[in-house]
Amino acid sequence: MKDPNNTRDTLPRRGSPLWIYLVSVIGAGAVVCAIALGGLFRHEFEALLGNPVFWILGCFVLFGELRPIITPGSTETSGAATSTTFVFAALLYAGMPVAILLQVVAAVTYGVFRRRAAHRTAFNVSQYALSITAANIALGGFGVHPSATQVWVPGGSDLIAIACAAVVYFLSNDTLVCGAVALHERVSLVKVLRRDIGYQVLVNLALLSLSPLVVVAMNRSAAFVPLIVLPFIAVYLIASGSVRREHQALHDVLTGLPNRKLLTMRTEAALSEAGHHAPRGGGPQDRVGLFLLDLDRFKEVNDTLGHHTGDRLLQMVAHRLAHSVRPGDLVARLGGDEFAVLLPSVRDGQAAREVAVRLRAALGEPVRVDGVSFDLEGSVGIALHPDHAPDFEMLLQRADVAMYVAKEARSGVEIYSPAKDRNSPARLGMLGDLRRAIDRKELELHFQPKIGLIDGQLVGMEALLRWRHPEQGLIGPAQFLPIAEQTYLMRSITHYVVDCVLTQAATWWREGLTVQVSINISGRDLLDSTLTDTIRVGLMERGLPAAMLQLEITERILMNEPAYAGDTVGALAELGIPLSLDDFGTGYSSLVRLKRLPVEEIKIDSSFVHRLTESCDDAVIVRSVIDLVRTLGLRSVAEGVEDHKTAQLLREMGCDAAQGWHFGRPMDAADATEWLRRRMERAPEPAA
Ligand code: C2E
Ligand code: MG
Ligand code: MG
Repeated sequence: MKDPNNTRDTLPRRGSPLWIYLVSVIGAGAVVCAIALGGLFRHEFEALLGNPVFWILGCFVLFGELRPIITPGSTETSGAATSTTFVFAALLYAGMPVAILLQVVAAVTYGVFRRRAAHRTAFNVSQYALSITAANIALGGFGVHPSATQVWVPGGSDLIAIACAAVVYFLSNDTLVCGAVALHERVSLVKVLRRDIGYQVLVNLALLSLSPLVVVAMNRSAAFVPLIVLPFIAVYLIASGSVRREHQALHDVLTGLPNRKLLTMRTEAALSEAGHHAPRGGGPQDRVGLFLLDLDRFKEVNDTLGHHTGDRLLQMVAHRLAHSVRPGDLVARLGGDEFAVLLPSVRDGQAAREVAVRLRAALGEPVRVDGVSFDLEGSVGIALHPDHAPDFEMLLQRADVAMYVAKEARSGVEIYSPAKDRNSPARLGMLGDLRRAIDRKELELHFQPKIGLIDGQLVGMEALLRWRHPEQGLIGPAQFLPIAEQTYLMRSITHYVVDCVLTQAATWWREGLTVQVSINISGRDLLDSTLTDTIRVGLMERGLPAAMLQLEITERILMNEPAYAGDTVGALAELGIPLSLDDFGTGYSSLVRLKRLPVEEIKIDSSFVHRLTESCDDAVIVRSVIDLVRTLGLRSVAEGVEDHKTAQLLREMGCDAAQGWHFGRPMDAADATEWLRRRMERAPEPAA
């Protein structure tokens, strides 16, 4: 049965409609209980105590109440209490006072066991007592008046009377509960009644139709009753198994919070609910709010104090967030240190912002984990429906844009603003396509060699992303990555790229085609505190040494050096993964900065290399970069070398390696493997 206020144990405000309702039901229930129990005359009571059937029924009622059958989709409080079967059987067999007595004992025991608030238990007791009374009146209408001393064993012709009593019992019980839920959630009674009426009817039909069989079997011999209980136990075990599996599929293991899948389902339900209840005549409408919250500098904790402490901290954060929202709101963990909060109904942007500020305040309370104090901070991005997005994906994407703005501006909380969003409708369409492309595995990696200029040795292979579009053919990264980089999608893409590259590198490694493979990392990825872990675990799983991988980070990103970039770069370098500074010359690095960075390679941007043979200025720049790089003890790689003349010049300048069409174009995995195989078979030739 549904529970009236399962979301709160606090008594509603005195004088509020819900309070008046609860008090009235409890009052009426108390009167009914007093009359019923007072009516159990002494000799009836003695007859009861001496009747083993009474004790058997009592045990089953108690057990059924304490162990409701919870099926996927129902909750502990809306699950089916099998006590219903036995209470109703008690009503048929020995009358209303006995049924009420058993129900009161079971409900109170349940309340004590579960440490429920007294008013909730009192409401449950009353709700059942009133429903039993109503069913008893219905039975009386058919001239049936069972009692403890004059038990009733129905025959086949009594089924109509029993069916009527069962319907009355179910309707009164469901209406009483739904009344409380409706007042609690401030929605109409009909809406609550309709919510899961199908499920409730089915469950109660199954439970109540067994009651007359229990009575008949009991009358024959109490020994038959366990036969009825066995199917219950089987159903209970099957249901608990599938509930456990459903829970695992929809929740995060570490924090126990809902995961992305459940968040998607709940948000979609909230959006469709909002669609159905849009006010006519343009009155004010509540919004659906979606927050994205990312912890600031969580990476440092993980890296310096270890995963154990990091995990404990995440659990604490999860607990705090979950307890800082209203009943009905949902806090989910999307992965790493990223959380999402769904407000199915929020008045406006200002109200949503207040909730976000409250969440940040809850986070900001100092925490102690493993003897260390932490001051946690997080950035929250807010998107509202219908203002900012029509569906879940877009809401999430826009909350993400806002979160990114909050992080960059260090403002803590930001509501999505189109002015700060660099995505146009066409770009959004592209994002949708790209998201599907990831699922359909339309993204693929091509590989381009880096060749040593002195000895012609293969230095490495750079993985470059391509999108094999079903209509437009092969699309280069410049056409889609800049858009993806502004969104949450970039993470998925990079994790996908890391996975593909590691798999390819491991295959080559196994086949004796040993080569360092580099991955391009975007600025956005440096925000992702899970990236380091993904790479670490990926290397470990494939038994690859860290030196087999290289990460290329463009100079512009590192030199702007937002606070978070340095953290991730440091963590990656600590893993032993060589770093390469890509597109050098476009970001105005200072010498001092360059010296501090944990890089092993500098790639001279192709814009200088292209003009090398024509422009004196560019030749001077390239030569001084090569000298500088050598002074720092790093490797220089020239990008975009298209002809022999340029390669020759670079070699004379002392450049270590080069990459470009002159040496090899980016190739798909099969061609690259073939290229590697042929190359490894013959001795390296002088490069230029
Ligand atoms: P990049 O890392 O500087 O890559 C070099 C680009 O120059 C590649 O373009 C490559 O195809 C192109 N290229 C190589 N040799 C020559 C040449 O001789 N002449 C000319 N004109 N071009 C040459 P591509 O593949 O279109 O990639 C463009 C940029 O997209 C890359 O620049 C990189 O920053 C980014 N990118 C590529 N794949 C990924 C990826 O998986 N993740 C991320 N975050 N970025 C990627
Ligand atoms: Mg690159
Ligand atoms: Mg480059």
